[in-house]
Amino acid sequence: MKKYNFNAGPSMLPREVIENTAKQILDFNGSGLSLAEISHRAKDFQPVVDEAVALIKELLNVPEGYSVIFLGGGASLEFCMIPMNFLEKKAAYLNTGVWAKKAMKEAKAFGEVVEVASSADTTYNYIPKGWTCPEDVDYLHVTSNNTIYGTELHEDLDVPVRMIADMSSDIFSRPVDVAKYDCIYAGAQKNLSMAGVTIVIVKNDALGKVTRYLPTMLNYQTHIDGGSMFNTPPVVPIYCALENLRWIKKNGGVEEMAKRAKQRADVLYAEIDRNKLFKATIADPADRSYMNICFIMNDEYKELEKEFMEFATSKGMVGIKGHRSVGGFRASCYNAQTMEGVEALVACMKEFESMH
Ligand SMILES: *Cc1c(COP(=O)(O)O)cnc(C)c1O
Repeated sequence: MKKYNFNAGPSMLPREVIENTAKQILDFNGSGLSLAEISHRAKDFQPVVDEAVALIKELLNVPEGYSVIFLGGGASLEFCMIPMNFLEKKAAYLNTGVWAKKAMKEAKAFGEVVEVASSADTTYNYIPKGWTCPEDVDYLHVTSNNTIYGTELHEDLDVPVRMIADMSSDIFSRPVDVAKYDCIYAGAQKNLSMAGVTIVIVKNDALGKVTRYLPTMLNYQTHIDGGSMFNTPPVVPIYCALENLRWIKKNGGVEEMAKRAKQRADVLYAEIDRNKLFKATIADPADRSYMNICFIMNDEYKELEKEFMEFATSKGMVGIKGHRSVGGFRASCYNAQTMEGVEALVACMKEFESMH
């Protein structure tokens, strides 16, 4: 039976990305050695990093004066590296979910943190609006897509200060106005590559402004100066990212990714709204994520949750269980998700409805 992968992360990648990466793991560039067996400083590997950096800059239209680096440690390490490198006195955070909250917690160790708004009161089921950002902060931190709850900022905010964004789960799914940000970071395993690498896009002249001592490995400048080779980078995930970046470019770039994401999300949300058994956890269509589409059983059908889970699994759906803090279901539809996958899930929801 065909499987449809809706995993939230690590998640689906285009088949050809997996296949091309697998080939290089067996025999890198016809060298007879595995990609996993060569030095990251080998002359064949440098072009991999160079092309990946160039493609990231091209796809996101990164302006002059920014660096792109590959790090380990996941997006979670960035939660502390960001304030360490950018927070001198005060920073603002928009609290839209658990990841935002974790980022805020780390920042408090380095300076004053202002929570500009929070949707914690209703399990983060909306994006707070109508708040103002203080102008005397070093940056405003936002989480562009809230993977667990299924809310998303579909546009770059207009605020009077520089922004820093955790784009782990929607990077490369839409065009971004990078010039509004001092730093954008993303763990790769949602929408870019396999787990193990984090990409960081950083404005060069935003660095060097804090007075504290920065441990060498936790200083962004170290990795910019070292071209992501200060220490051994995660070679295989970087290679896999390169293959995915090539795939995104070949398929029309981030504009096309945005179009496809919206098409898929529209189809799935339409069925959730129509089907009497289900309801979306995010009521306001403007806040609904195109990447993580969350829904629960309608109140009168609560007891069918387990049965739908089993039914969907029997039809080949993988990874649709909602995060434990929200319950219900979550269909993650990153760039690699197909309309066929979404239609299969919709068909499954319709069939289940007809059985009840
Ligand atoms: C998954 C996720 C993280 C955590 O990423 P790790 O790579 O596991 O540290 C952080 N932020 C967001 C938005 C995520 O989706």
